[in-house]
Order: sequence, then C-alpha cells, then structure tokens
Amino acid sequence: MQDQTFDLAVLGGGSGGIATARRAAQYGAKVVLIEPARLGGTCVNVGCVPKKLMWHAAQIAGTLAEAAGYGFELAAHSHDWSALVERREAYIRRLNGIYRDGLDRDRVSLVEGYGRLLPDGRVACGEKAIAARHVLIATGGKPQRPTVPGAELGIDSDGFFALQAMPNRVAVVGAGYIAVELCGVLRALGAEVTLIVRGQRLLSSFDAMLAEALSAELIQQGVRIRYGCEVKRLERQHDSSSSSLGASLNDGTAIAVDTLIWATGRRANTEGLGLAEAGVKLDDAGHIVVDDWQNSSRESVHAVGDVTGRVPLTPVAIAAGRRLADRLFDGQSERKLDYANIASVVFSHPPIGTVGLSEDAARKQYGDVVKIYNTRFKALYYGLLEHKHETAMKLVCVGPEQKVVGVHVIGIGADEMIQGFAVAVRMGATKRDFDDTVAIHPTSSEELVTMR
Ligand SMILES: Cc1cc2nc3c(=O)[nH]c(=O)nc-3n(C[C@H](O)[C@H](O)[C@H](O)COP(=O)(O)OP(=O)(O)OC[C@H]3O[C@@H](n4cnc5c(N)ncnc54)[C@H](O)[C@@H]3O)c2cc1C
Repeated sequence: MQDQTFDLAVLGGGSGGIATARRAAQYGAKVVLIEPARLGGTCVNVGCVPKKLMWHAAQIAGTLAEAAGYGFELAAHSHDWSALVERREAYIRRLNGIYRDGLDRDRVSLVEGYGRLLPDGRVACGEKAIAARHVLIATGGKPQRPTVPGAELGIDSDGFFALQAMPNRVAVVGAGYIAVELCGVLRALGAEVTLIVRGQRLLSSFDAMLAEALSAELIQQGVRIRYGCEVKRLERQHDSSSSSLGASLNDGTAIAVDTLIWATGRRANTEGLGLAEAGVKLDDAGHIVVDDWQNSSRESVHAVGDVTGRVPLTPVAIAAGRRLADRLFDGQSERKLDYANIASVVFSHPPIGTVGLSEDAARKQYGDVVKIYNTRFKALYYGLLEHKHETAMKLVCVGPEQKVVGVHVIGIGADEMIQGFAVAVRMGATKRDFDDTVAIHPTSSEELVTMR
C-alpha cells in the first residue's frame, strides 16, 4: 500500500465517509477508506438506527396501552429490555456486514485503524503512509459532557445504547433532540424520568410552538421537567439495599436516580488528526471550516458531515459527500449541497416534523411580511380513546404571494408527513399552492392544505 497512490483517501467509515467513498469508486476512482471501529459510524451503531428501533418499541408500548379503546382485551404483558437490545444489536451487526459488502462490491480498500493527516498531505494509519490525490475527513463527532465533579458516573447516548437493563429512575440532562428522544423512550417503557434543562425551553433551534407542545406532552406523560436547572455534582450513594446516584442541582435541591444520561451536545472528532500541522483550519468549536464545496483551507483536503458542524444529520453527510464525489470524480464542477430547507424529524412521542424557517427566524429575516397559520386538533385516532394527544401545526408564509418558508408539525404521523412538504417548500410553493391541493381524508396531513 505504501507504493500506491489513491485518488481518494477517506478518514471515517460513517454516513458521509462511506457514501463518498462508494460514489467516487463507482466513477472509477481508486479509493481507500480508514475506519477504526464498526462500519456505519454513529448513525448505524449508536445513533439514528438503534434510536429509531427503541422509538418503535416505545410506540408499541403506547399502542398496547391504547388497545382497549379499540375493543382489545389484552392479557397482562411485560417488556424484556435485554431481549429488545439483543435483537437490535443483531440487526445492527447485519447492517455492519452490508456496509462491508458494499465497499467490497465497489472495490473500496478498507484499512482498519485511526487515520491522521501528515504535514506533507499523506495520510498515516499505524505504520502505513498513504498517498492520495484527495483526502476526505469524515470523522464525525462524539458526545460531550460538562466538567462537573462526578460527571464520569453518568452515561451519554453511547452509554444509553449499551444499557442491558432498563434503569428505573433516570435523569436526562439536555434540551436538544437527543435528550427529548431518550426521555420519551424511557418513559414509554416504564421508567421514572426527570429531564434537567439549563434554559427555559426545549429544542432551542426549533419553532417555539413545537417546544411548548412537546413540553406539555412530556409533562402529561409523567416526565418531570426541571427548567433553569443544572447538575453541579454527581455522587454515588450506597444504602443497605441498593446503589444510586445523587445529582445536586444549582437550585440547592438534589435528586436520586439509577442512571443519569448526559445529552449535552457533541463535539467534532478532530483531535489527534494532525490538522493544525497540515494547515487545516478549525473553528472555535473544533469543527473543520469548509467552503460551499466542502473544501478545507488546505488544497485537496475536504470534509463532510458532523466534523464540519453544518446540519449534523445523516442524510446531510451523505448528500454533501456524494455531491463532492460528483464534482471531483465525474466532472460536475458546480455540484454542491444546498443546506437550506433541510427537513428533520424529532422522534419524540408524539413525533415532530419540521422544514424551513421557524416563526422567529422568519420574522428576523423578513420582518412584517410574515403571516402565520396555526391549527390544533385531536387526531381521529384518539376519537375512541380516553387520553387524547393534540396535534399542532404551523405554516410560516412570507410576502404578498405568501411563499411557504416553514412547515412545523407535532403529532402522530408528523415523522412520515414532512418529507413531501419539504419538496413543496424547496420548490417555492405558496399558500395558494397548498390551498389548491385537494386534501386526503381522513388524515392529519389534510389540515396542512386546509388552513385558514
Ligand atoms: C443518539 C443519536 C441519534 C441520532 N439520530 C439521528 C436521526 O434520527 N436522524 C439523523 O439524520 N441523524 C441522527 N443523528 C446524527 C447522525 O448520526 C450523524 O449526523 C451522522 O452519523 C454523521 O455522519 P458522519 O459521517 O459525519 O459521522 P459518523 O457517522 O459519526 O462517522 C464518523 C466515523 O469516523 C470514524 N473515525 C473517528 N476518528 C477517526 C480517525 N482518526 N480515522 C478514521 N476514522 C475515524 C468513527 O469511528 C466513525 O465511524 C443522531 C446522532 C445521535 C448521537
């Protein structure tokens, strides 16, 4: 390998790295991919995939609780967390193998280990030094936790996926999508959950309506939310029968839990990569600075995905990487990712689907010409049930033509609803286009084309 020169060396076999490597190889490029851990990266191993499977389990728990309203008489049932984890991990191992087969099929060479950039532009992995015309850094990110005493006694999202039994009393620290998703799963499967939020709201980058509606839902489900609170210290407490964690909060109170999960953000995997020595610029948060074409400050060194800090989602890493490969190896010289209007889903209970600008962001950008349409209702599904959950929707429109620049939904079905509306927003649809679209009845999504 020392003597070979590759067209592309990729550091990181996660969503962005694998997608770029395979697309480049499909164009005939000679590609090497370096990965120290399981193929598939965060998304497959400790992110989207196991998270969504846990979400499905939680949805089933909800459905079982509601089945009586539809005439089912169910025998008493219980849930086996360890069986769920075993099946989930077996599924993920199959995915790891599928990724390996995909690389083999496209003749991407795989090197196992940590890669780093050498000042001369080659890539080192252990004793190997690999020369390549282009280098892609797609090393993703990892969870970060605050530096309070005892922080190491807690776990992070990686630790959540390693749990072999359900903790009965859990504190989740954070207010982002990972925090609320883990809360929802644990609560639905029967844990006592406290959510510790430093600020005064959840999901700070999302529309405020979504945050308020989700907060009300979580409280209704029995999650205790402690706004304006921070954990100052974490200690192990032993009594005669059990061992628990004591979390001291900044307001002088303390809570006892079995497990505390830090969902307090992620940082880029850029340490130890030799980036500064190789002339690759990082921002203050440690992300690789890239231009619109995913070029770093060093020629022929590129970066995609979470390591760049730009919209850290799997399909974004994949899309940026594939476009980069189109540009570098298929002559599509203007090909790059448009980061505007990327839809996303929060797999909370109920789920959130969102695309475009929040009301606040639209008002900042467009001022008085913003018009908002809101609706709240109880989905037909709840017609037969005692406990009803609300669906809330908002359209953010601008200008005399009322161009729709934001669509925000919380409620059952929102996760599968938003993708199609993202196409409409991307194409510049107006409120009139929404109104002229004949509704599908009876659905929740029909409300989005009948708002007044
Ligand atoms: C709990 C959780 C839930 C999530 N849910 C969703 C979701 O529902 N939808 C969604 O779109 N996104 C979700 N995400 C985000 C998503 O997982 C990431 O955006 C995505 O994985 C980023 O892909 P990436 O290629 O940039 O990095 P990663 O997938 O993290 O891959 C980076 C790879 O680089 C490797 N690496 C690290 N250092 C080196 C080195 N020195 N040399 C070589 N390789 C190295 C790592 O081992 C890793 O395999 C979730 C994330 C988490 C943590």
